[in-house]
Amino acid sequence: RCFCKLSGEVDDCSCKVETLDSLNNNQIYPRLKSLLARNYFRYFKVNLKKQCPFWSDDSRCALKDCHVDICQKDEVPIKTEKQPDNESNNQHEKNKYTMESNKGEQGGGDCTEERQLSALDTTISDEKKAEFQSWREHDESLPMFCEVDDEHSNDLEYVDLLLNPERYTGYKGLSPRRIWRSIYEENCFKPEKSVGYGPEPITEAAMCLEKRVFYRLISGLHTSINIHLCDQYLFPAKNGFGPGTWGHNLKEFQRRFDPEKTDDHGPQRLKNLYFTYLVELRALSKAVPYLEEEVFYTGDAQEDADLKEGVKDFLAIVKNFPDHFDESQLFKVNSQEMLQLKSEFVHHFRNISRIMDCVGCDKCKLWGKLQVLGMGTALKVLFSGDSMAGDSTVNASLKSDFQLTRTEIVALFNAFGRLSSSIHALETFRALAR
Ligand code: FAD
Repeated sequence: RCFCKLSGEVDDCSCKVETLDSLNNNQIYPRLKSLLARNYFRYFKVNLKKQCPFWSDDSRCALKDCHVDICQKDEVPIKTEKQPDNESNNQHEKNKYTMESNKGEQGGGDCTEERQLSALDTTISDEKKAEFQSWREHDESLPMFCEVDDEHSNDLEYVDLLLNPERYTGYKGLSPRRIWRSIYEENCFKPEKSVGYGPEPITEAAMCLEKRVFYRLISGLHTSINIHLCDQYLFPAKNGFGPGTWGHNLKEFQRRFDPEKTDDHGPQRLKNLYFTYLVELRALSKAVPYLEEEVFYTGDAQEDADLKEGVKDFLAIVKNFPDHFDESQLFKVNSQEMLQLKSEFVHHFRNISRIMDCVGCDKCKLWGKLQVLGMGTALKVLFSGDSMAGDSTVNASLKSDFQLTRTEIVALFNAFGRLSSSIHALETFRALAR
């Protein structure tokens, strides 16, 4: 029997690991896999050239498998922004156009998308400007969990995620150690008596719910990244020459997660993956009404209609699965300490999003940035309109003027896809260990 056959409830969520294995492996994973291969989700806009804001940049990694293939502009087969349709009744779209066209007013880049948008500027009435102003105020009242890449930077590029999969790259040693240490030691919450920077087991006595949630989210992401590198591992060629072969590396998996082969934190780290999965699943579930209205525009009417159907089918599964993570339990107490904790929570997460620019392997940076943005988007969804934004009431649904950018939607789905694929990969390791 594989130690990775976890059982029992996911901490702080009333949901059994076995229930999630079944939901994920039978229903979520196959649907997401096919959705994420569609053009809308596979092209991610990202700036991989941003300077590390914390220490001198060591991100010029020479490892071959760290290389990211960037799409040339004419290689991206999708249009990314639909032109506003004057006849449209879709408030969701109208809000977005107003916001985007005003962004265009700020000047900047030279890509077609931006030119199209700035061409709209002349048609913006005072009424629209006022609408946008209220939008901006709304946006600023929301906690921004991630430092987003500047939409007008010339360094923003499209990456085809299918051509640049998250897998073993050989990125190890001082550089990733510094990243993880900086995340856990300086930008995460931990119990007073911590064991290195893996402060498990986290007991209720050791940390309050908000801090446990934060720590588990990061640990779950770390677990997921490390499962992927074990799942798609590059074994060197037998004779030492040639390209090597890709496959599942059970030994590497056991080294990281098997309590008999390493310290006994492995199973807890695997459980944290399920926790992170449940939190992002809850965010998707909360965003269903919003996502059902999304256009998922690529410029190809047939593709857009098919994709919308596919997303609807996926969202039906998400919607019908009971919510197990309850964000309204966080930041409940109205006190000065809680206000302080909220601001630390947001500040730490933002810092982690900035640390991603310090990752010294472009492929790891790409997926790190995407997954942190996806998690930040999930948090934005969960805390939109509730006490995090300064309201005293906790809203079960999103505010009517809530907005997500295309990049946030792509990140949210792909980040959840990574967690889903990690849980699916555990099945493979269980079979290999038998
Ligand atoms: P690390 O994974 O570096 O862990 C460092 C320490 O953190 C461990 O000693 C342990 O004490 C603690 N720890 C480990 N796991 C957890 C957990 N789940 N929860 C809490 N604490 C934990 N490598 C690739 O091959 N492909 C990739 O795509 C990739 N992406 C990466 C993305 C980012 C953002 C970063 C920072 C690194 C990435 N790496 C990737 C590198 C990879 O994560 C490891 O850092 C590397 O393989 C070295 O592993 P390690 O055994 O030294 O332990």
